[in-house]
Formats: sequence, C-alpha cells, structure tokens
Amino acid sequence: MSQPVLSLWINGKSQPSTSARTAEVFNPASGAVVRRAPLAGKQDVENAVAAARAAFPGWRDTTPLRRARILMRFRELMQAHRDELIHLTTEEHGKTREDAAGSLQRGIEVIEFAMGVPHLLKGEQAEDVGRGVDCHSLLQPVGVCAGITPFNFPVMVPLWMFPVAIACGNTFILKPSEKVPSASLRMAELLREAGLPDGVFNVIPGDKEAVDALLTHPDVRAISFVGSTPVAKYIYETAARHGKRVQALGGAKNHAVVMPDADLDFAADALMGAAYGSAGERCMAISTVVAVGAAGDALVEKLRDKAARLHVGPGDQTGIDMGPVITAAHRERIQKLIDSGVTEGAKLVLDGRGLKVPGGEKGFYLGPTLFDQVTTTMEIYKEEIFGPVLIVLRADNIDAAINLVNSNPYGNGTAIFTRSGAHARRFERDIEVGMVGINVPIPVPMAFFSFGGWKASLFGDLHVHGMEGVYFYTRSKVVTSRWPGGEERGSSNLSMPTLG
Ligand code: NAD
Repeated sequence: MSQPVLSLWINGKSQPSTSARTAEVFNPASGAVVRRAPLAGKQDVENAVAAARAAFPGWRDTTPLRRARILMRFRELMQAHRDELIHLTTEEHGKTREDAAGSLQRGIEVIEFAMGVPHLLKGEQAEDVGRGVDCHSLLQPVGVCAGITPFNFPVMVPLWMFPVAIACGNTFILKPSEKVPSASLRMAELLREAGLPDGVFNVIPGDKEAVDALLTHPDVRAISFVGSTPVAKYIYETAARHGKRVQALGGAKNHAVVMPDADLDFAADALMGAAYGSAGERCMAISTVVAVGAAGDALVEKLRDKAARLHVGPGDQTGIDMGPVITAAHRERIQKLIDSGVTEGAKLVLDGRGLKVPGGEKGFYLGPTLFDQVTTTMEIYKEEIFGPVLIVLRADNIDAAINLVNSNPYGNGTAIFTRSGAHARRFERDIEVGMVGINVPIPVPMAFFSFGGWKASLFGDLHVHGMEGVYFYTRSKVVTSRWPGGEERGSSNLSMPTLG
C-alpha cells in the first residue's frame, strides 16, 4: 500500500475519496503497481452529482459561442500536453507511444467537432406551416450527464463523450476505468485551465459501486457507456428503468472478409495493424478473417510471416509494434482461450504463449497468435478474446461469408478486401454491422460522423459523437407560433386544429 492514491476531481478541484477502497493501477510493461485508483463510493457520487447539478444553470446559460471558446483553449492545452497524455496512456495501458498518439489525435478531433457547437445547435425553421403560423425547433441540454469508460482507450473514449456533452450545455461526470484513471484526471485539470467553470466536469474513478450510484441517481439524466457487452446490457437496462436516456456501446467480434480477387499483400499488411495493434485490445480490432475461396492458403501464409516478424516489448521503446496486455489475469484468460482452440481442433499457425521479452519478465506479454481452420462452434470464435489472437475461417463464396458475419451476435465493425466494386457494394448493403470498411481494416468514423455498432455491440439507438452525439446530449423542442393581427379573433374551435 505504499503507492500514491489518486484523488477524485469534483467541483473544479482534487478531493480525496470518502471511500477507503482502492484498486491497483499497473504498468503492464513492467508488471509493477505504479499507483492506486480511488474507488468512489456513494457519497462521492452524491458530491459529484451535487456539483454538476449546481453548475448546470450557469453553464446552460453560457452562450454556445463562449462554451466553444473554452473548448478551443482546451484543444490547445491538449496539444501542448500531448507528450504527457501519451506517456500516461502508455504507462497505464501498455500500448505503444505511436498508438497512444494516434488515439489522442482521434480524441482531439472530437473536441474540434464540438467546437462547432454554435452551428450544430441550430434547429429547423419553417415559415407558414399554417396561415400566419411559423414553426421552429430548439436543441436544449438535458442536464447532468455521466460517462462510464473502458480501459482500452484512456484518452480517446472519454473524449468521444464529454466534449460534445459540455459543448451542448450539459454538465458531466466521468467514471473512467479504474485500470487507467490518470489521463481522465489530467484532462479535468486542463479543462479548468481552459476556463471551464467548476462543477461542469467531474471525474470519479471507481467500479460497480460508483456506476450503480450513477445509474440510479434521480438527478443524472443521461448515461453514455463504452465497455463489454454484458455490462453494456446491464447499464442499458438499469439506467432505462430509472428513466434515463442511455447509449451503451458493447463488445465486438469484427470480421474481415478477404475475397480471392483482393490484393493479398495489401490485405495482410492491413490485417497486421487491425489484429495486433494495441495488442488486439480494440473494440474495432479485426479478430476474425473470413478467407473466401482461393484466398485462404496464400493469405494465411502471408499473415504468419508478417505476424512472426512483429516486435513485442514495452510501448515506450522505439521499434516496438505491440505492447503487453492490460493485466496478468487478462493474459491468463487469453492463454486459456488459445488452449481451448488447440483442444477443439483449430490449426495453431503461430503461438504467442510463453513469449519472453528480455527485461520484461514480469510484464503481461503475449506474442501474436494465429489460428487457421477455425469453425463457428469453437470458443475462440464465440468469445471476444480482446488480445493478440487472429483466427481464420474459410467460406466458399461471398454469400457464405456475408451469412457467417451476419450470424454472429456482434455487429460493431467489419471490412471487405476486394478489387470488385460489385462485391464491395453487395457487402456494404447486406452486412448487418454498424461500421463498414472497404479495403479499410478499421473503419472508425471520423469525429464528424457517428461511431457505434449494431446488435450486441450497442444497446440504445444513438451512436457517439457526430450529429448523433449532439442529439443524444440534447432534447428537442418544437415551437409553433402565431402573432394575431386581429382578423382571426373570435373563432373558437374545439376540434383537432389543422393548419394547412
Ligand atoms: P468492462 O465492461 O469490464 O468495463 C467498462 C466500464 O464498466 C469500466 O469503467 C468498469 O469500471 C465498469 N464496470 C465493469 N464491470 C461492471 C459492473 N459489473 N457493473 C457496473 N460497471 C462495471 O470493459 P473493459 O474491460 O474496461 O473494456 C473492454 C471491453 O470494452 C471490450 O469488450 C471492448 O470490446 C469494449 N469496448 C467497446 C467499444 C465500443 O465502441 N463498442 C470501445 C472500446 C471498448
């Protein structure tokens, strides 16, 4: 217990948690505990909600242009503190510095999108919907919003949520993953430095206790969640039962369909990053390849050769392609799944178990692993592995491949590799997945589009950021107005009014 315990961030300042519970925060590259995260309790949630509720009227009444200017300053500070945020991400998550930098950039782009909020909040207007009657709509903030985020993107996933929420005039409570709390707390300090009023943004690292208190709190109006599917479903059901709007993004099993007409070298290169980048701990990672017809053998050979050459080691060193996974327990789970693949008869083409990283003996490393001849009944197909394990299934034709993808319960991301416009068009139209790449392995939408999956990858309807994010964090109001000039007087009518 000698490591420092982090604080909460409530009402514009660091505050110790009222709860005595804490969690270890590891550096996955060394296996050492670097600090401890407070596990916020009910009283902490009460305090954060009270601060956010008190700050709401003033923030709602701050004009969108002024809110945007604070976000502009926040964006500049995020740029100025890039190295520090990248360091915190790599230290607590383990991903490489390059990968941390890329995800920071994608997060900053959401701030840039939210900076356009004066334009984004413009409603609709129609003149003369009836004689002398006009109509316009308003987008107004919902109030206190909360975000609950996973371990795998310590900076980017929180940024999917709060810049849009606060730009729209809401106040926000972020409950980051207890495994990677530091970057969220640092962003809170930068927001204060940018001029954000106290209480508009609060951070309470914690676990289920804090989450449950947020889900049931009567003053919390909206919940955004990103994490695993069982928890997403629980969040959706519990928050909805308590009258809140919810967007709960869940887990994934993303397939890449590789057609025989594809450029196989290009596809294999793209699949390296998609499968093994961030040690496979991405909700948009391609974990499953569906090789169609003659593509199979040649593709597997290329994947094996390229994967075997990847450099695994500490994410803060140069020349490293892939860092460790998040915890020893997670590595254990992945290894067991690899064992099950072998037992169930899949062909283990590349085995990452037992990898030794010189100097990193206590780190949570696992080498790139590749399976061929996998079937849909095997555990390694059915489970979201969330590690550096790529599995290959075979399909006879595009119909069988689309059917296979559509039969999977998840629907987050997918990609097709092909030179045929007809195949690409067919795939785009018929695939039941929320984000689709055509010769693009990880089709994460830019900040001005919306991010979200289908089926077991999303509970709720509105996706995050882009216009759907704006709609999630606002309530619409429609105003119908008439300014009588005298001639309409004295005509009471008790039947359903029609204007046209
Ligand atoms: P997780 O579901 O374990 O945790 C996510 C958040 O929920 C954390 O803040 C955690 O503290 C909290 N939590 C965990 N268990 C809880 C419980 N029983 N009750 C209430 N709250 C609980 O997910 P993780 O391991 O941090 O992240 C990995 C998962 O997130 C993967 O399944 C991945 O696919 C998914 N993910 C999805 C997306 C997406 O956009 N769909 C993006 C990133 C990650």
